[in-house]
Amino acid sequence: MNILVTGGAGFIGSHFVLRHAEQHPEDALVVLDKLTYAGDRSLLDPMQDQMTFIEGDIADMNLLTKIVDENQIDTIVNFAAETHVDNSIQDVSPFIQANIIGVHNMIELCRTNPDLLLVHISTDEVYGDLQDDDPVFSLESPLRPSNPYSATKAAGDMLIIAAVRTHGIRARITRCSNNFGPHQASEKFWPTVIGNALNDQSIPIYGSGEQKRDWLYVTNHTDAVEKVISNGIDGEIYLISDTNETTNLEVAQMIVEKLGKSPDLITHVDDRPGHDWRYALDASSARALGWEPAVGFEEGVERTIEWYVEKIK
Ligand code: NAD
Repeated sequence: MNILVTGGAGFIGSHFVLRHAEQHPEDALVVLDKLTYAGDRSLLDPMQDQMTFIEGDIADMNLLTKIVDENQIDTIVNFAAETHVDNSIQDVSPFIQANIIGVHNMIELCRTNPDLLLVHISTDEVYGDLQDDDPVFSLESPLRPSNPYSATKAAGDMLIIAAVRTHGIRARITRCSNNFGPHQASEKFWPTVIGNALNDQSIPIYGSGEQKRDWLYVTNHTDAVEKVISNGIDGEIYLISDTNETTNLEVAQMIVEKLGKSPDLITHVDDRPGHDWRYALDASSARALGWEPAVGFEEGVERTIEWYVEKIK
């Protein structure tokens, strides 16, 4: 396989790249990343000899065309995106560039290269949120994004779904629940809680903290993406989660306890506008491909805390 991974220097993309390089040394691997605040090229250092790294923007069609042509790319895995909901509330423009124009460019590439496979990484946030008693989201659930970030992700998904039907492009979409693990940019929830706890600083929790997330350990997610590449069907959507529903407050309390810090560090702050209450997914589509989460929640928590403690030391 000649594979192009976009956003490969980010949180989830970097785990995918490192594991793919190790598990598939026979593949030619090209990584394209804009290296925004969320990208860190040094995460890829352990495998840098097994890839070509290109700094660039998926909104740049000329660059994408050149990369695909010169490297005879047959598969694109698109992790590149603007991802932080709070940033999208301040200014949605970069989200439109990366999450809509970038996806439009991928579709155009697929139109001119009919054999090219696009595996597009999306999110359960396109469905909006659930209340406590609602059944979990399934492939039949309507898209009801509730913030600018999820609206741009839903737009990207819709463009791909329409292009599959109208133009017959080869594409598969994955939608996963919230990931946790090493490599995440410092302003996200887990790194903030761990970093502030380690530094004995107050830990901000939006609103009551009773919002529920269905936490998925990051390499369990990348394993599922590998299954979608190897066993998935063109035009299909795959939902990926690991039924670890936990409130944000419970996660913060667990981390504080594991680090031996005072629970008094946890401070409730004003809720995020439009804050989604609960996400949960029916992951039977991913499990039908033969995917099983290999890392249990507890083990994932230990690995995550260990990595940030080492980084912050
Ligand atoms: P991230 O913000 O950690 O990393 C994104 C990467 O994309 C960064 O390396 C950044 O430099 C790069 N990038 C941003 N804009 C780019 C552009 N225009 N061109 C090229 N590169 C660009 O994100 P993540 O958490 O690793 O998320 C990866 C994908 O998974 C995203 O599509 C996101 O929507 C999806 N997702 C993430 C989660 C989660 O919990 N983190 C949950 C569901 C879905």
